[in-house]
This record gives sequence, C-alpha cells and structure tokens, in this order.
Amino acid sequence: MAGEGAQNNPFEIAKKQIDIVAKVINLNDGIREILKSPKRELTVNFPVRMDNGEYKVFTGYRVQYNMARGPCKGGIRYHPQVSLDEVRALAAWMTWKCSVMNLPYGGAKGGVICNPKEMSKGTLERLTRRFASEIAPLIGPEMDVPAPDVYTDSQTMAWIMDTYSMQKGFSVPGVVTGKPIAIGGSEGRGEATGRGCMYAIREAAKRQGLKTKGATVAVQGFGNAGSVVANLISKELGSKVVAVSDSRGGIYNKEGLDITKVEAHKAKTGQVEGFPGAQKISNEDLLKLDVDILIPAALENQITSKNASQIKAKIVAEAANGPTTPEADEVLFKNKTTVLPDILANAGGVTVSYFEWVQDLQGYFWPEKDVNERLEAVMAQSYKAVADTAEKYGVNNRTGAYAIAVDRVATAIRLRGIYP
Ligand code: NAD
Repeated sequence: MAGEGAQNNPFEIAKKQIDIVAKVINLNDGIREILKSPKRELTVNFPVRMDNGEYKVFTGYRVQYNMARGPCKGGIRYHPQVSLDEVRALAAWMTWKCSVMNLPYGGAKGGVICNPKEMSKGTLERLTRRFASEIAPLIGPEMDVPAPDVYTDSQTMAWIMDTYSMQKGFSVPGVVTGKPIAIGGSEGRGEATGRGCMYAIREAAKRQGLKTKGATVAVQGFGNAGSVVANLISKELGSKVVAVSDSRGGIYNKEGLDITKVEAHKAKTGQVEGFPGAQKISNEDLLKLDVDILIPAALENQITSKNASQIKAKIVAEAANGPTTPEADEVLFKNKTTVLPDILANAGGVTVSYFEWVQDLQGYFWPEKDVNERLEAVMAQSYKAVADTAEKYGVNNRTGAYAIAVDRVATAIRLRGIYP
C-alpha cells in the first residue's frame, strides 16, 4: 500500500519508471509527458446507508490512465489505505501490463477508501451499487472495464454488472470481468494468474536450458496466485515444490511437498504450518533457499537490497505485484538471475479477463481447454518478446518488458496524432 513520503509514493515511482525506459528506447519528450499523466480522473464522495440506519459518506476513485490502444482495463480495490496517487500508479501499471501482453486495452484502476472486513454483506452491496452508479458515466464495454482487486471478488463484479445493466435497461455482461460463470464469466479465469505464471516459467526455463521436470521450487504466499502456480508447476511440469508459505510462516521438505494435500491442510487449519512431514521455515529463509525457481506470490518489497545477494534461485517469477525493489533488481541482474517481471509473470489474470470480455461481446462462450490454449500462446509470445528485447538492449527483463509496453502505447499515440 501507499506510503505518504515522496520516496514511497507509488505514482512518483511509476513516473520514474517511465523516465528510465524513455532513455532506453529514446522516447520523444512530448510523448513522455503524455505517458506520465493520467488521462482522466474521477473522485466521488457518496453516501451509504449503514446497517444501523445511519448515513456514512465514502470516497472513491476511478482513474483512466491511457486509452490510446483501446478501452481501459483495471481492477477496483476496497481498502482503508486507498489514495488517489496509489490508484494513479496502479492505473499506469495496468496500462503497461495490457500493452506488454499486446491486449487491445488501455489501463485504469479504481478504489474506495473503506474497510470491507468491518462491513456486512448488505452494506458492501449498497456501497458497491452506489459506487458503480457514481462511476457509471465512465465505465462500459467500449470505454472502461473494471475487474476484482484487493478485497473485491466475483460477487462485487456481479453487483456492478447488475447496477450498470439496470441503468441501461438490458444486461451488459461486458462491463466488468471476473464475474461468476453463470452471468457471463469465463472458464479458467479463477486459475488464470497462476497458470499464466507457470507458462512464463516454462518458457524462461526452456530458453536457458533448465529442465523443469525435477527442478526445485519455493513459493512465498499460498493464496489465489501462489497455490495455483504451486499446484500446476508440480502437476503439469513435474517440478518439485520444496517450500511454500503464508502470512503465518512456511513449510519445507527437501523431498518435495504434495501440494494437493497442503491445500487440504490449509483449508482445514487455515495455515500451511503444521503440515505433516515438513519442517518449519520462515518467510525470509524461504526466499534464500537453494532452489531453481523462486515464486514470490504474496506482497510487495520482499526481495530488497538486504537479501538480494542471498537469492540462489536461477529464475524468480513475480506472481505478486512489486515483490522486488529496484535496488534488488540490479543485484539480481548482476548475479545473472532471470527475473520474470510482474507485468508479464502475473498477466495471465488480465489476459483471461480479456477473453471473458471477448466472449461477452460475442455472446459465445469457449470451453476451458480453448481458454487455456489461448492463454498459453499469449504467455509464450509475450515472454519471447520480453526476453528478445532485454537481450537487444542489454537490460534486465523488467526494463525489456517496459520498453515493449511503453513503445506500443507511444506508437499508438503517434499514429493517432493529437486531437484536434
Ligand atoms: P491472496 O490474498 O489470495 O493470497 C495472498 C497470500 O499471501 C496468502 O496465502 C497470505 O497468507 C500470504 N501472505 C500474506 N502476507 C504474507 C507475508 N508477510 N509473508 C508470506 N505470505 C504472506 O492474494 P492473491 O490474489 O494470491 O495475490 C497475491 C499477489 O499476487 C498480490 O501481489 C497480487 O497483487 C498478485 N496478483 C494476483 C492476481 C490474481 O488474479 N489473484 C493477479 C495479478 C497479481
């Protein structure tokens, strides 16, 4: 989440990233200024009737960062620490993520300052419906398509879809993605982030001659992203997941963990710790394990200047957003560690969101096998483009990914020209 200091201000970081890549790709100064400015920002203050009958005013945002390449795409976050600068930064990152995956989208993000853990389902529904109607002038299948983010889920999307549809007078499933399948969601969306990450790892391993069968893996974070990638990398690639963790701590077994059984243990006890036959390991030590593949899938700022030199993995795949600091990036690059940057490694989610939107617009729904095959193709192409670009400029994969993403948006702006 956003800190208040200028140094930790996520939007300042997002702008700095554009300056860095601008030098690499020799970007025109005027276009650089456009790319450092969010196109459109909406702040709404809206009342919600609480369970005790009283009214409370909440503040929410929707930022449309750039739509040169297509309708905006990006999640809606409910969190007490949401701020306009955080939403701006997240909207910028969505722009680069959609662009590096070559999805025909711009980037956006939304947020409401609130604590959903303290709200009843009824209050959450009223808050969501009112927020949806406040931002309704900005959203729509051709304009801006929200999705779930921190503390919002498929139910939140169902309420937004219904509110928007009631205002139009007919069902508009393409206004949001990440919906329940019964009302126009896509097969495969639930596991898309972890599955996409697994494909990216497979491609990176192939390029550097690392056999994934039998390769050792550690996964930090055992939620939606982390547990799926742990499961798929062992089942589909035959890798050996030796360690996983959650917020309470981790487990390690050098012979490998049975991930299906770990999932069952976590479902029963609420944590991975205590899993029979495994020893305890701290989240910090998990990162430093002598494994082939490390997958941070929890929080930001986990690999820093303090521990980067102790990372032994050959591939670090960022299922989480922002787990590696810029200082750590330099150390890993020097040590020849392959980092699969977040805007590539966890882009399986937004890619299948794109497939969901396409299916909604066509009113024609694909079987899960088709969704996964198309995801596989997009991940493989995008990984190759990133690795080739990084090689061409002699930079790390993150800068390679930004170079592609920023250049594509810049090209769209150049070709379209400035109105009027
Ligand atoms: P989640 O809430 O389902 O899981 C998070 C996991 O991290 C949980 O197991 C939690 O216990 C663990 N965790 C929390 N604090 C921790 C700590 N200090 N140390 C170790 N583990 C800790 O969330 P998620 O959806 O899996 O998201 C995880 C990351 O992946 C986030 O950075 C998110 O932005 C990113 N991501 C997720 C998706 C998606 O589709 N779910 C898409 C793109 C990016």
